[in-house]
Amino acid sequence: MQAVIIAIGDELIGGASVDTNSAYLSARLAERGIVAVRHVTVGDDADRITQAITGATEAELVIITGGLGPTLDDLTRRALADAMGVELIEDAHSANRIKAFFDRIGRAMKPSNLTQAMIPAGTEAMDNDCGTAPGIAARLGRADVFALPGPPNEMTEMFEQQVAPRLGVAGALARTILHVFGTGESDIGERIADLMARDANPKVGTTAKGGIISIRIVATGQTSAEADAAADKTANEIRNRLGELIFGQDDQTLASVVGDALKDCGMTLATAESCTGGMIGRMMTETPGASGYFLGGIVAYANSAKTAMLNVPAEVIESHGAVSEQVADAMARGAREKFGADFALSVTGIAGPDGGTPEKPVGLVYIALSGPSSTKVHRHIFSGARDIIRRHAALTAINHLRLALI
Ligand code: AMP
Ligand code: MG
Repeated sequence: MQAVIIAIGDELIGGASVDTNSAYLSARLAERGIVAVRHVTVGDDADRITQAITGATEAELVIITGGLGPTLDDLTRRALADAMGVELIEDAHSANRIKAFFDRIGRAMKPSNLTQAMIPAGTEAMDNDCGTAPGIAARLGRADVFALPGPPNEMTEMFEQQVAPRLGVAGALARTILHVFGTGESDIGERIADLMARDANPKVGTTAKGGIISIRIVATGQTSAEADAAADKTANEIRNRLGELIFGQDDQTLASVVGDALKDCGMTLATAESCTGGMIGRMMTETPGASGYFLGGIVAYANSAKTAMLNVPAEVIESHGAVSEQVADAMARGAREKFGADFALSVTGIAGPDGGTPEKPVGLVYIALSGPSSTKVHRHIFSGARDIIRRHAALTAINHLRLALI
């Protein structure tokens, strides 16, 4: 089953407040196996709201939030009636509830409050236990349409108490996210193209963020066992195709995966960072319990620091330059020795925007991994702005260690 969610309010499209209602509803629907295919945000404009409602009925379920208040800018009732081609009529039960509400709090009711009891003919009012505006349950074409109040506490209460029971459970949903590092999104897209058909079950999609590509697998089924099995089958197929490009899944990060691997074999890590300025150390310590395997790091930015803190011979820097295979090698060995670690990672590079030459362009980064048996230096040329180069270098360094550990 598919759903469209419509959020209404000038404050939402004007940027004064953020639409949290739609995110909440999507998550609740997903638990029931209902997929939100579109979020629509519309200002307080009756014609546009009518258009949005009409356009949304491609889906079997439409949920609208906002615009049910008593003021002139609350137009959802009117717009829904127009979309249905019916008149607004007073719902006696809702009118009585609103009158009773004002009696209870001892305040005089304004006539405008009774406009909240107006609903499109042929629809059903849903009681609001947290406020005055009733919700509306309607049928438009083949779609079930629910209009809920905008205030999040009223909206969630009405959704849970009155909308959810009418939806039933359309099925179960299983979700797995696989994380990839070391290739581009288009490469991944080609290698799993046949699994990414838009109408397939499971549905497979990719997103790229900060150098990491995440592959989302969402399966639906009659039961959660069926959905889980479908998601697992596709996840395993993707694992087979991409092999060690996949470093983890769901909440795992490159650093947490490497941390787990170090913990498993009882080994420790130290770092020596130049152009990444401590980013590897920061990433490695984001995982709780990192003190079990991460000993520490030295940010050796100046040449003098590389010599003083990591014992990189001044002559090596002099003859090969600070950004060189030899200096990366010496930095990693120096850190391993200083910290008494099993492994050390070092990074030296040109993050830019200045400092590049034809032989050593911006983006050139040497990464060394020194381990119990050998030290290996990798040469990379990263592209992008300074911070992207630095982040990519730090992730690549951690990934070299991951590949060495598996
Ligand atoms: P309304 O029902 O349109 O009068 O909305 C009343 C209040 O609810 C607004 O002023 C917002 O603070 C809040 N609200 C409305 N829509 C949303 C939404 N989509 N997400 C979060 N808050 C909302
Ligand atoms: Mg509003």
